[in-house]
Amino acid sequence: MEYNLEAVFGRISEIVDVVYLTDSEADTYTALKDNSLFRNVFGLSGSYRDMMDILMENTASRMISGSKMYSVFLQGTGELKGKFSKNVRMHFGDSDYYYHISNYSLDEHRCAILLTETDESEYIAETHGDEKANVIRSAYLFSMIVDLIADTCSNLDMSETSDHPVNEPDISFSQWRPMIVNMIHPDFQDLFRSSTDPEYLKQYLSENLTKSFECLMANLDGEYIWVKLVFNRMNTGNPDDFRLLFVVENIHESHMQLMENLKKYEEKAVTDSLTGLFNHGRIESELSHSLENCRAERKPVSLIMFDIDHFKRINDTFGHAAGDYVLKTLSKTADEYLSSCGCVLGRWGGEEFLGVCAGVNEDDMYSTAEELRKKIEAFEFETVGHITSSFGVISVKENETAAEAFERIDRALYDAKHGGRNRVVRG
Ligand code: GH3
Ligand code: MG
Ligand code: MG
Repeated sequence: MEYNLEAVFGRISEIVDVVYLTDSEADTYTALKDNSLFRNVFGLSGSYRDMMDILMENTASRMISGSKMYSVFLQGTGELKGKFSKNVRMHFGDSDYYYHISNYSLDEHRCAILLTETDESEYIAETHGDEKANVIRSAYLFSMIVDLIADTCSNLDMSETSDHPVNEPDISFSQWRPMIVNMIHPDFQDLFRSSTDPEYLKQYLSENLTKSFECLMANLDGEYIWVKLVFNRMNTGNPDDFRLLFVVENIHESHMQLMENLKKYEEKAVTDSLTGLFNHGRIESELSHSLENCRAERKPVSLIMFDIDHFKRINDTFGHAAGDYVLKTLSKTADEYLSSCGCVLGRWGGEEFLGVCAGVNEDDMYSTAEELRKKIEAFEFETVGHITSSFGVISVKENETAAEAFERIDRALYDAKHGGRNRVVRG
């Protein structure tokens, strides 16, 4: 069959389930076509406003308020105006119904409302799009156009923070800055002042260039969140025109995620993967820090270095995995004991360890080392049995450099090895 316009409309009127003619001025509606659901709810005619109230009450409101159609559909009066089309979910009784709703203005006050039953998937597909739009909207907390020459800022309607000072109608940029500075975390207020200074912006923002900085800013609940403040000079072709697009982006989640990742990388960079102790580089910087701090506070710093005796034999006899197990277990035991004595332990390399003990004098260091030596000797390692270790201990001298201290403790450890192993030698 050939479809002409009349045939198409005839077919559409069959497909459409419900048609209402509404008159907002007379406050009436009439059902030109209905089905049992709508007949039960609305009958054949009634008050237009009552109908809108019932529709609003029973329609998933997020669908409407979350979309650009909000003003079209509601406008505070519950009136349908202009052309409007949307997939909505309605709830009547205990059931959900999915309808495609279309509104056509026929003249100033009268409209035709067409409802066609659809399935859930179309509704979900559309909601998804709306949610995406909302995510984009909420990513920018607010936005405005700043004119540095005229000293004005005008709000761009992208935000939901309607009680924000930016929305005041005739605020100047120079008034805006001190108002907003109170929302910025004190640590970032100087950065905010200098980065939003009109002279600074004029000087450094060439056309179409963007400047941004990140800071902590209070949200409407008064909680500090990470935001990115972006100034983008508008490309007007006029070198004297200093209009800037300014947006504040909510980057809190991604910022926190980044910080967490950086922390993990940092931990990885300073940790020995086998034993979980500080690695060589980290324990070296631990010594420089301790020397600096303790010298300032006139406190002693002592070092303990130990090396497992005949470790090569353990590998050779029981295998590399058994050697690893000994290293891990011994690290854990030594670390627990030494940290209780105020020492920080690191793996110096292979089966050699260095502990930095701030505030510990040489005598106490010696007894601690002797204690640890005995503990290791007494420990029964699975499969491997008993092992021993040799120790060097020193207290860093007044004017000694870290390198000189390392040399001295290394010699003490060498002497312990050559003096028969399983002993502590003072450097
Ligand atoms: P000494 O008493 O003189 O210290 O003798 P030693 O056998 O302990 O010393 P040597 O330096 O001859 O051998 C150290 C061994 O430690 C050699 C090396 O294969 C082993 N080693 C180093 N790092 C690891 C590791 O991460 N895992 C295992 N299983 N073995 C390691
Ligand atoms: Mg060894
Ligand atoms: Mg060694």
